[in-house]
Amino acid sequence: MEYPLPFERYNSALKKNILLGLKCRQCQKITCPPQMTCQECSSFDLEITELGGTGTIQTYTTIYIAAENRENEVPYVIVLVELEEGPWIMGELSAINPEEASLDMIGKRVRMGNRVFPGDRYSNGSAARPVFYRLD
Ligand SMILES: [Zn+2]
Repeated sequence: MEYPLPFERYNSALKKNILLGLKCRQCQKITCPPQMTCQECSSFDLEITELGGTGTIQTYTTIYIAAENRENEVPYVIVLVELEEGPWIMGELSAINPEEASLDMIGKRVRMGNRVFPGDRYSNGSAARPVFYRLD
């Protein structure tokens, strides 16, 4: 079985700030990041769709123990964002002093950009990850 949206294509689009998801032809739900099946109804009948990259912060956490190669960046803030099209995705919140992160951020609007991280011992080269910028 073929992945409807292989990671390589998702990632190369993300490097250009294009966020791709999958729209279910059965229930219309949008899944992102890409998976094999619809997250709502488990259908395989999915088509690639481009998402706008804006949404609202639903929750956050501050990272003190870094992923490999990010040891000199801690602490940093990771947010869980509900995109306008429905799916929830994670990414780093840019331009914030982690000491100023608070529950007041929940519900604030953000726009997605990206940052490319070098590969580590578990990956096959560099990969883009969402980074969010506050709009309000
Ligand atoms: Zn579905």
